[in-house]
Amino acid sequence: MGVKVCKFGGSSLADAGQFKKVRDIVLSDPDRRYVVPSAPGKRFAGDEKITDTLYKCFRLAQRNQPYEDEFERVIDRFTGIVADLGLDFDILPHLKEARALIGAGSPDYAASRGEYFSGLVLSRYLGWDFIDPAEILKFDRHGIYASEWSNELAAARLKEHEHAVIPGFYGSLPDGDVHTFSRGGSDITGAVIARAANAEIYENWTDVSGFLMADPRIVDNPKSIDVLTYKELRELSYMGATVLHEDSVFPVRKAGIPTHIMNTNRPGDPGTMIVVDDGDHRAPGTITGVAGHKNFTLISIEKAMMNSEIGFGRRVLQSLEDLGMSFEHLPTGIDTMSVIISDADLSQRREQIIERIEENTHPDTIEMTSGLALIATVGLGMVRTPGTAARLFNALARADVNVRMIDQGSSEFNIIVGVDACEFEDAIRAIYDEFVG
Ligand code: ASP
Repeated sequence: MGVKVCKFGGSSLADAGQFKKVRDIVLSDPDRRYVVPSAPGKRFAGDEKITDTLYKCFRLAQRNQPYEDEFERVIDRFTGIVADLGLDFDILPHLKEARALIGAGSPDYAASRGEYFSGLVLSRYLGWDFIDPAEILKFDRHGIYASEWSNELAAARLKEHEHAVIPGFYGSLPDGDVHTFSRGGSDITGAVIARAANAEIYENWTDVSGFLMADPRIVDNPKSIDVLTYKELRELSYMGATVLHEDSVFPVRKAGIPTHIMNTNRPGDPGTMIVVDDGDHRAPGTITGVAGHKNFTLISIEKAMMNSEIGFGRRVLQSLEDLGMSFEHLPTGIDTMSVIISDADLSQRREQIIERIEENTHPDTIEMTSGLALIATVGLGMVRTPGTAARLFNALARADVNVRMIDQGSSEFNIIVGVDACEFEDAIRAIYDEFVG
């Protein structure tokens, strides 16, 4: 069989008990040859992730304040794990060396030590080789990840190791200084290693049994998604259903490697398999999931004969660009054009944007409506299935939800509706009940 690359998240490595579960999982399948660990995460509500403690140490050091007490928590965590696992490994000198360097280094160096020590401990516990990702994953001097360069370095290096532990979250700049991905970036390391190892599968082990078809805070006990495509994942994550770091999709998707989301605490659960969109995938149901977001604003612009005015759309979008704003959707009519903007993007610039659009387009009317929620109903099973939209809108009508906006891309696997924020939860439940039930 092919190689499996396994990434374990922070909650999967929070204490010695979790390390034991990780070892059992890894050793139960000989194809699992490369492991990417995160830094130890929270053990209980109110606990602190090691990465957060390390950032704190750096901030204190930067202000010339003592950070040794704070660092003591890092020392306690790792020495505790080593002792509880019964490992013959004197980790203390390594921890002290890092402590001495924190003041002189960068925030990235400080933060990376969580993954570094997690990796050192896990490699000893498994009896596997340790590869420092600073040697194989490179960023350019502007801090942009150098994917092809890294892929070559990593692929060559992995060939030298039958089994290895490669800490997540960081690599290095051309001068060798440590540089991290953004928060949650061990997911990216896992994907990058999976690509370099030409893996058959990228296993991402976390503390949930995969994706759910809807937000469990809204829908009671929603079903989990067994299989979905990267394309559907993108739509659902964009709308807020997040389990994976967004950037972890690209390396594996490009290489045609599926990602399997699994639960370290319930390894027998099937989890969610994310597969490549090669046209062979047959969606099991009509919809794959429903997700949404509140806090959008709709700007509606009306002007007689808009449809024949050349450049009208461009001038509306130019107004946004001038103010450095992006838009989410652009539903248009014959003499109307609407732009949907997330409130986070709009912030203090409500008046300014109206003025700018007025100046640039001289509309008959322009109206701004806040408090809009967007809901995406996603599923490759909807493609060329007559009646899907009718079922969706009937369900919303029965729930007495007023639809303010409709947007369906030509790919037909995503229908987006805009509803008043106060009807958001009712709408999600109505759609879920109609299609899943
Ligand atoms: N430890 C890092 C963080 O907390 C990276 C990761 O866990 O993926 O963001």
